[in-house]
Amino acid sequence: MTLELDSAAEPSPPEATNGVWLSCIGCEETYSPFDDILYTCPDCNSLLEVRYDSLPTFDDFSGSGVWRYTDMLPLEEGVSIQEGDTPLYHVPDLEDELSVSSLHVKHEGMNGTGSFKDRGMTVGVGVAQRLGVDRLAVASTGNTSAALAAYGARGNMETLVLLPAGKVAAGKVAQASLHGARILEVDGNFDVCLDIVQELAARGEVYLLNSLNPFRLEGQKTIGLEILEEHYERHGSYPDRIILPVGNAGNTSALYKAFREMVQPGALDPADVPALTGVQAAGAAPIVEAVENNWDGIERWNDVETIATAIRIGNPVNAPKALPGIRETGGTAVSVTDEEITAAQRDLAGEGIGVEPASAASIAGLRKLRSSGVVSNDEEVVCLTTGHLLKDPEAAAKAGGDPEPVPGDTDGVLNHINN
Ligand SMILES: *Cc1c(COP(=O)(O)O)cnc(C)c1O
Ligand SMILES: [Zn+2]
Repeated sequence: MTLELDSAAEPSPPEATNGVWLSCIGCEETYSPFDDILYTCPDCNSLLEVRYDSLPTFDDFSGSGVWRYTDMLPLEEGVSIQEGDTPLYHVPDLEDELSVSSLHVKHEGMNGTGSFKDRGMTVGVGVAQRLGVDRLAVASTGNTSAALAAYGARGNMETLVLLPAGKVAAGKVAQASLHGARILEVDGNFDVCLDIVQELAARGEVYLLNSLNPFRLEGQKTIGLEILEEHYERHGSYPDRIILPVGNAGNTSALYKAFREMVQPGALDPADVPALTGVQAAGAAPIVEAVENNWDGIERWNDVETIATAIRIGNPVNAPKALPGIRETGGTAVSVTDEEITAAQRDLAGEGIGVEPASAASIAGLRKLRSSGVVSNDEEVVCLTTGHLLKDPEAAAKAGGDPEPVPGDTDGVLNHINN
């Protein structure tokens, strides 16, 4: 495996603040992190990433949750509601059925607002405060809006969320609403919402907290660090493979960055880096298309559809960071149908783990890659489940059994259940 190591821990450039700076992944120009508001490179328009003067090893971490990893975050503290430290569940029935050496599920639905988006927001909203901006905004398939609304509320900041009308699960809209975001229902899909909010940010009207914002990915890196630490503690080994649902490919990019930043100071052997394996819904699979065709970039899909609304995305903005991550860790990408997603959602529920449809894509992807032989039976696998079942009650109710009407007396109920 050939991991690019030159993207972390160099002598800090003049623009650094406390050993933190921004660097362009295209032209490598560096920028000050907190002076100007930047989302992409002013010179070449490529994505930016956060860089550090020095990087920690596992022994340097203490405490729990996202801020356990403060030595590799751009701030000492953010706006926090105790995010991270989510459970890594062993799933013995699925492990048996799919016949892999070990199978665990990292359930990000157990974050405060019910998705991993909290990890990005605790850092991103903290940076927004440091920058002194006052109006925060995101385009969202739902969970980003719920997290922004909660963290914005916690930080006493104004929040705007742009949602594709009619395509956001009920639980997520309810969260954004109660936490006090202004909800703008856009006549267009997620990618259109993101086009608009990027334009609003470019005009200086809002501070953008989509995963295009490099600071958010720093918080999301901690998913990968928790998986490494917990898996090692339990098995004395790191997982061979991490399988995750892919929408904008922020997590794929963030996990790859976490691994590079552990390899760089020698805390992780390059041979121990898990193969990053992305799963998309068949109706929204530009990353899979790019991986299968060995393209350098993705082609935008204008029409996308899937029951997994959280990954109903045709123009994954982080593809330039994620595609190298998939390739250089020896991973792959695969698409699954809505039926396969729903079946996997039921299987996880059968082990007591309640997830929303997008999350189940990771298990559905594993099943497909086991039957095609891409994943072998000696692998230790971790599947990421990104959001909680209650996010999308409608999908859960459809996937589950129907309530049975019974009479209002004991004999009638007994008669019914014994028949
Ligand atoms: C945001 C989200 C995703 C997509 O994650 P990316 O980092 O954009 O690839 C997947 N599942 C759920 C539940 C989400 O909320
Ligand atoms: Zn550049």
